[in-house]
Amino acid sequence: MKDGEWGRYPKPKKKVSDKPIEEVLKELRKPPFPHSDYRERSLKIHGLICAKCGREFDHTNRHLLTVHHKDGNPRNNPPDGSNWENLCVYCHDDEHSRELLGKYLTEGEEEE
Ligand SMILES: [Zn+2]
Ligand SMILES: [Zn+2]
Repeated sequence: MKDGEWGRYPKPKKKVSDKPIEEVLKELRKPPFPHSDYRERSLKIHGLICAKCGREFDHTNRHLLTVHHKDGNPRNNPPDGSNWENLCVYCHDDEHSRELLGKYLTEGEEEE
């Protein structure tokens, strides 16, 4: 078989991308999960400690520490961390079940 035979079919003339290389590189550098950014940031600002029970974490169990949004809006991510609270998974769970329970209770009776 001759080398030239592989080139028998015309190559598609269509360009794969019109974007300048800078643009493509910029896109490649974007983190695949932009939402994980605020977590790292919050852990950095508030430290590896649960804001509720005070349990401390390190790199071996930091995945148990989650970021809670104080106003309940995960899109509200001020860079100063004022809407974040680092909570361990247990306290975070508790926090949210309390919210629901609280709503449920206050709907029934309005004491206090
Ligand atoms: Zn906790
Ligand atoms: Zn939360």
